[in-house]
Amino acid sequence: MKPLMHGTLPLTARLEPWMEAVLADPAGCRELIETFGSPVNLHDFSALGRNAGELRAAAAEHSVDFQVYLACKANKTIGAIDAAVNADGGVDVASFHELNQALRRGVDPDQVIVTAAVKSRALLALALDNGVVVSLDNRDEAEDLLEVAAVRGVRARVALRLASANPLLPPTRFGLRADRWLGFLRGVHVPDRLEVAGIHFHLNGYSAEHRALVLAESLRLVDALAGLGHAPGFIDMGGGIPMSYLDDSGQWTAFWEALAGQPAGSEDVTWKADSLGSVGTNPGTGVYPYHQEPVRGPWLDAVLGSRPAGTPETIAELLVARNLQLRCEPGRSLLDGCGMTLAAVAFVKERSDGVPLLGLHMNRTQCRSTSADFLLDPILLHAAEPRRAREPFSGFLVGAYCIEEELILRRRFVFPRGAAPNDLIAFPNTAGYLMHIVESASHQLPLAVNLVRDGGGWVPDRIEDRVLRA
Ligand SMILES: *Cc1c(COP(=O)(O)O)cnc(C)c1O
Repeated sequence: MKPLMHGTLPLTARLEPWMEAVLADPAGCRELIETFGSPVNLHDFSALGRNAGELRAAAAEHSVDFQVYLACKANKTIGAIDAAVNADGGVDVASFHELNQALRRGVDPDQVIVTAAVKSRALLALALDNGVVVSLDNRDEAEDLLEVAAVRGVRARVALRLASANPLLPPTRFGLRADRWLGFLRGVHVPDRLEVAGIHFHLNGYSAEHRALVLAESLRLVDALAGLGHAPGFIDMGGGIPMSYLDDSGQWTAFWEALAGQPAGSEDVTWKADSLGSVGTNPGTGVYPYHQEPVRGPWLDAVLGSRPAGTPETIAELLVARNLQLRCEPGRSLLDGCGMTLAAVAFVKERSDGVPLLGLHMNRTQCRSTSADFLLDPILLHAAEPRRAREPFSGFLVGAYCIEEELILRRRFVFPRGAAPNDLIAFPNTAGYLMHIVESASHQLPLAVNLVRDGGGWVPDRIEDRVLRA
């Protein structure tokens, strides 16, 4: 069947079977919206174990000891924590509340790492009290940690966050260079107060080559640390493990070509001819690469099989020779296939110049990451008796914030058979970042309810308990 809605340049989402089943039942979707409000976030974590399994299989091929930590900032539900644990994984937490939730949910403290960019004393204390490894970002943070540990009379377990000194990589605000860490560890007498359990880094972008370069750099740091009496047991390569939302690479290239060719003033492809940060036909770094290859398993295989300049051994062999565990912290690519957002149509109207607009009961922070746009076609469900006859049109999705630029998505969409109030729009594959990373309760509009699959039905995620009790 032809979709009831698609981009003027279509970008067709890959769907999980559970998503297809939800979409095949518009009445059931209406009921969810009526009960829980619009938008509502649906989670079915059945794909998470498969995603983790792809990574594990690639590591096993290279005989590398390996563990996966879900980056909790990508999705705030307790269901996501449970799913990570059920897949024998751990969690990467970025705040006091994330750590507290994970511990209260029963995650083994050994399967948690704190990577928060800025760490409160309360967060450090909670980590220390539970023996959770803290990724150390800088010397001041190290002093804070040692002070809090001294009060408690415990030894801190840390991973040194490594900022690469490799000129092939862009500069980073995170961590310190290896020479700085070594200087710090030489300067203070710490072995009895500080255990260097591992090395940690997290890179921008999705380059396998960059990961291999910084893994090689981490291995050199491990060797230097041995000279200072430390015996790190792992290297954690952070997140940024790539995934693909689109199966059709042709759609992806056609979209960027059309965008590059969009005449100034035309809105055939995007609102107000927005270039979405692109340069010519190259997707800008301002958006996620919704189609890319390789992803997950084959990508990790490329990292592990690469040979750093000057060594005959692969990264995998160098890890194995030192008895080091490789860890990673995927957010997005672990949550691939785990979520979908449903929203109700509020109105159909025209902009003052006649451009058609479809208004939704949601705001743009409820399906948005930190990048310029979410580049997947939503799915329209004719779910209600139309008030007026539905007419075909092509236009834009607008939302609830009182701002001219309140676009839910910035691309133009075609509605070959029209749309009407109370019809529904589903945003596919939103569990990684799209639901939560920038959601706001501006205008005192409530945050979306999060539902998790429970057997055949949907129940509010336990994170809602806190909200309901408040
Ligand atoms: C955000 C983040 C991640 C997850 O990144 P993805 O791109 O979602 O895989 C992992 N580790 C750290 C330290 C992060 O900041």
